[in-house]
Amino acid sequence: MRVEKRRIALALLTILVCSGCAVNQASGGDPQVSTGQIQAQQQLADKVDQAAESMTSSPAPDPSPADQPADPPEEKAEKLVPYKGPVEHIFFHPLIAYPELAFDNDSMSKGYDDWFVTVKEFDKIIQSLYANNYILVDIHSLIDETQQNGKTIVTQKELLLPENKKPLVLSIDDMNYYDYMLQNGNVYKLILDDQGNIATYSLTPAGEKNIAYDNEIIPILDQFVKEHSDFSFHGAKGVIALTGYQGVLGYRTNLLDSPTYATEKEEALKVIKRLKETGWTFASHGYGHLDANKVSYDRLASDTQQWKKEVESLTGPVNVYIYPYGSRVETDSKKYRLLVDSGFDILCSVGPAPYLKVKPDALMMDRRHIDGISLKTQGERMLGLFNASEVIDSVRPVDPKPNVAAGKQPPAKKASPSTSAVKK
Ligand SMILES: [Zn+2]
Repeated sequence: MRVEKRRIALALLTILVCSGCAVNQASGGDPQVSTGQIQAQQQLADKVDQAAESMTSSPAPDPSPADQPADPPEEKAEKLVPYKGPVEHIFFHPLIAYPELAFDNDSMSKGYDDWFVTVKEFDKIIQSLYANNYILVDIHSLIDETQQNGKTIVTQKELLLPENKKPLVLSIDDMNYYDYMLQNGNVYKLILDDQGNIATYSLTPAGEKNIAYDNEIIPILDQFVKEHSDFSFHGAKGVIALTGYQGVLGYRTNLLDSPTYATEKEEALKVIKRLKETGWTFASHGYGHLDANKVSYDRLASDTQQWKKEVESLTGPVNVYIYPYGSRVETDSKKYRLLVDSGFDILCSVGPAPYLKVKPDALMMDRRHIDGISLKTQGERMLGLFNASEVIDSVRPVDPKPNVAAGKQPPAKKASPSTSAVKK
């Protein structure tokens, strides 16, 4: 038990480092962490909650009341043309809903400055992506799967999109609402409102209950697509990447023996069902947020099994794997075989530009990290998407010594620039 708690504590400490999820950490070894820090993190880990069920490969548009006059978009003879260019894939972490908690000069503030974006920033980014003719597509629409001799063969599928539109895949990592997030300015969980729509639940810094629609990616995008239907191709929204060690979506479904487990699971299932109905899909982000490249085969195997048992049992079948820390494994390795044989045929890492490669057994895709580091230091690279200097929120702390020098390569795979910041 102590070992398990310690593992969770270490995972908590390293999760922020991950951020870019891009980055890496000391996952394999034991980071130099003080006893006090571990105890603090263990207290966090003790506070747990939980989550839920099936997946969609083709998201349905937000269902509207059944008796609307029949004029479905499909019947408008939508003009579609083959798309030949690069496919952008960007990712975020859950938004900073309360900057005063994120940037309060505690030990997590630097990590939040590096790896998260604020609500204001996200709103501007979405506006800009829309103005630049991007359209959200379902990641599953990038491939065809056929069966040959009992094996699944993956091929790239031609995208047909409305003229002048550019495809955009959006993913959200670590949408678990870990204990540390609750104390540092993220919302607490996703919930269903009285109408059965997705909202967020949190306590404000003043301790008041807050049910909102304007402080997290999912309800913000739901609303944006409602108002700008041409920002979403056939109702697609984004990919929600989940770990499992502190449950999912703010529900502590990892506490299998807890008296609250049944309730947490039931609530999570309802939220998951609604997310799937409204164009959201799910990905595995590993159970324990491990660096797949660094851990042993056996550890990756048991982690994958545990994810399937505790998370996929709630979300339903998932074929997208989003490597924590932007790690990746070699395609001729046993670990790659393990992931593919576990049902994952879309494998996503992190990189500085769109990258997509198809092998017979899987699609490999890189994602760009959108966070404080990229906003502050990779503005030029982001220009086709948005103007970072116009996006950056003035609520961010002024950093006299930026973590990553301007123009430096992003923390894609190796070497986390922020390890010290998170541990300090
Ligand atoms: Zn992550």
